[in-house]
Amino acid sequence: MNQRRAQNLPARPELLLILGSGITVALIMIIVAVLLIREHASTLQTAQRSTNNITQLINADVLRNVELYDLALQGLITAAGNALSQVPAEIRHQLQFDQSIAARYKGEVLLLDKAGQVIADSSTLTPTPRNFVDRDYFQIHLKNPEAGLFISRPFKIHCECDQVWRIAFSRRVAGPNGEFAGVAVASMRLAYFDQLFSSLTIGSGNTINLLNNQGILLAQQPMLESNMIDKDLSSRPNFKRMLQEGSGSFRAISTTSDTLRLFTFTNVGQLPLIVVVALSNDDVFAAWRRAAWLTAGATGVLCIGLLWLTWMLRLELRRRYRAEKVLSELAATDALTGLANRRILDQRLRLEWDRAQRSNAPLALLMIDVDHFKTFNDRHGHQAGDDALRNVARVIGNNIRRPADLAARYGGEEFAVILPDTDAKGARVIAEHLRGRIENLPWVSGSDGPITVSIGLSTWDRQGPPSLEQLLLSADQALYAAKNAGRNCTVDARAP
Ligand code: GH3
Ligand code: MG
Ligand code: MG
Repeated sequence: MNQRRAQNLPARPELLLILGSGITVALIMIIVAVLLIREHASTLQTAQRSTNNITQLINADVLRNVELYDLALQGLITAAGNALSQVPAEIRHQLQFDQSIAARYKGEVLLLDKAGQVIADSSTLTPTPRNFVDRDYFQIHLKNPEAGLFISRPFKIHCECDQVWRIAFSRRVAGPNGEFAGVAVASMRLAYFDQLFSSLTIGSGNTINLLNNQGILLAQQPMLESNMIDKDLSSRPNFKRMLQEGSGSFRAISTTSDTLRLFTFTNVGQLPLIVVVALSNDDVFAAWRRAAWLTAGATGVLCIGLLWLTWMLRLELRRRYRAEKVLSELAATDALTGLANRRILDQRLRLEWDRAQRSNAPLALLMIDVDHFKTFNDRHGHQAGDDALRNVARVIGNNIRRPADLAARYGGEEFAVILPDTDAKGARVIAEHLRGRIENLPWVSGSDGPITVSIGLSTWDRQGPPSLEQLLLSADQALYAAKNAGRNCTVDARAP
């Protein structure tokens, strides 16, 4: 596997390329994700701020309006405390209901005696006998002197003519000794809230709600379901949370619509009322979602493009590496024999020479020359000559075994073999082995003897020679000596 990789591409540049683009893609995705998360948080914040403003607006308007009702009730109570029985009915009526004129969506304002009987009515000088003893706004004051301003549950009056929802504000009327003397009550049409809420634009799918602290829904705009008014929502977890927290904002599944909503809520002053603005989560994040899809899509395309480019670059790198490898092999190889060429021989010789100098290990050099090759060529032709050179080269290449050894074509019909870490004795053995193998090659047809080589051997050790040039020269001289000695033999430069 490692060998294959080494042949295909050096691992480091490929690893760096893949790692670099992988990290870049990861960083781009992290940055985009962080930006989108921040944008999501800021969208939520903006929605919370604007809904908070709406709740504050409602809060202020409702408070002002309830204050007017309370003023009317207190005026009525004050007037009831004074002995007005001698005053003419019109003036008494005016004194009793003077304060109640300004209130919006006002229904009737009544004064009930301690038995719940109407004793004064803002709409008429002579009230029709009615009794409200069973109403929550009466019973509360009867039972609890500290009830203060009470806001009733929504109700409809028992009259065919007017079937609109109302709520009542009531206060206790105390006798001269603080005893229960009746109730002052003012009703208000819930249309007031509808009008108030519909004047605020909050977008479709979103609602504004008003509940009392018992969880009774007083108003909802727009209405999610019919008959929602007077519905008891006190068991709903979202209401319980609002009641507990007083004011704030949270996201939760709405039990009414079964969708995720952003609830922003606040208590209306000290009153037992809670305003809730419920925004649809889809609505709040619609713009963000669009932007997120766009950004994610663009980032995805960018990342895929980057990865594709990286892949292309990797393929190109491999292609170039292979081409370079082939080129460098070609540049290092002798075309005819496939052995290393003269350039590589010179480089390696210099390298091994320097290494031998540093390590003091011996270095042997063989110069091999084919005998009477000119005659061979003349007799058998150049083609056969080339084949013979290839055969000789193959024998030389196949018979040097150590990784550091190098066989090269020196030029023409001459070869050189570098044998690092090899002394004269060892080199002679190898040289003789090579010579013998070449001599034993099959005869070329038509020839009257085998191809033979003469070998000049020179070794560097501590005794010399002093330079690489001298080493080469002595090997050459040894070869010359071998030729003179009758060819097909090995001559050691030290012992010619
Ligand atoms: P000696 O035994 O003294 O070495 O005699 P020789 O004939 O081998 O030496 P010489 O230097 O006179 O001739 C070398 C010949 O080798 C000359 C040339 O024809 C032949 N030769 C050199 N290179 C090539 C080659 O690449 N292909 C072929 N076919 N012949 C080559
Ligand atoms: Mg020669
Ligand atoms: Mg020759």
